[in-house]
Amino acid sequence: KLHNTIQELKGNIRVFCRVRPLLGEELLGSDGTINHMAFPDADSKMLELEKMSDAGLNESCLTANRKGNNKYEFAFDKVFNPDSTQGQVFEEICQLVQSALDGYNVCIFAYGQTGSGKTFTMEGPSQFSPEQTGMIPRAVVQIFESTQDLISKGWQYEFEASFLEIYNETIRDLLGNNSDDQKHDIKMTGSADKKDVMVTNLTTVMVTSEDQVHELLRKASHNRAVAETKCNERSSRSHSVFRLKISGVNKHTQEACIGTLNLVDLAGSERLKDSGSEGARLKETQAINKSLSTLSKVIMAIANKDGYIPYRESKLTYLLQNSLGGNSKTLMFVNVSPKEECFQETLNSLRFATKVN
Ligand code: ADP
Ligand code: MG
Repeated sequence: KLHNTIQELKGNIRVFCRVRPLLGEELLGSDGTINHMAFPDADSKMLELEKMSDAGLNESCLTANRKGNNKYEFAFDKVFNPDSTQGQVFEEICQLVQSALDGYNVCIFAYGQTGSGKTFTMEGPSQFSPEQTGMIPRAVVQIFESTQDLISKGWQYEFEASFLEIYNETIRDLLGNNSDDQKHDIKMTGSADKKDVMVTNLTTVMVTSEDQVHELLRKASHNRAVAETKCNERSSRSHSVFRLKISGVNKHTQEACIGTLNLVDLAGSERLKDSGSEGARLKETQAINKSLSTLSKVIMAIANKDGYIPYRESKLTYLLQNSLGGNSKTLMFVNVSPKEECFQETLNSLRFATKVN
């Protein structure tokens, strides 16, 4: 009953939880490994988190029920356990992806601490293997495929892709050539009732095939690797936004349809302490904390139907304002690791999720 009320409240926002498997040497050793997470059944909407020791954590979230000693229960729209494949995950988002073709602006986020599986979920592993292909290429391919039918009915489509990174509240083009030293500003275009958000000097690429999408991901990862040599851990401290703009026109009826699909790999959510860091590192920490907290404020303001939504408080929400709230659909993956040592961060992530849920 409670869950239903929350479903109504949040409208077009859904939250999925994905628990990644233990990997390699994480599987070894008797202590330091799992046992704190009761893995859900394949079709579950609940996740149980249990801490064997350490009392005193106080649970205050709406949907998170404290279940006796050190046991927490969280409700999601869907929970994926470590056995879930990329294909199974995609099955649950394909309808949402499809609505970008119907003219909706769709946002899919991956939230979670560094190492929890955000990039795996969104892009897939760097070595290409068809069954581990991530949500970005799957989404684009599904859109290509489902337009085939519409093309035979007189529709013509253009698919325009861009890929950018927000690091320290500064935008960088991930599809640009080599060193991107251009300045990128967010500009509002269009009329008051049909505003469009654009980024100046940003590379956009017309895509028509799956291979091109993989090529884009490779180029972006090359560009990120170049930047990473200058700043260690940069990719876990930045947000990356893949955007596909779909423009359709029917040559018989002149009907037009524009939708946008945004797939966002968020900066690592691990608590970063201001204390002890200074200079560049402090600025970086504050930028991440601010943009993630603004994101949750924006989502909550939309869910509460507040008059004022603080889009402008961070670059990420400013960039995505057309795709959050209004006539748009939002999905958030909360990625968590089953490692015992990640317990506190996992609990933080699950709490964040129940806030935006
Ligand atoms: P993040 O982007 O959140 O920092 P990654 O996506 O890089 O985390 O994942 C960390 C490691 O775990 C990577 O080696 C990745 O390939 C692996 N991994 C994550 N999720 C899965 C999964 N569902 N199945 C297999 N390996 C995974
Ligand atoms: Mg990552």
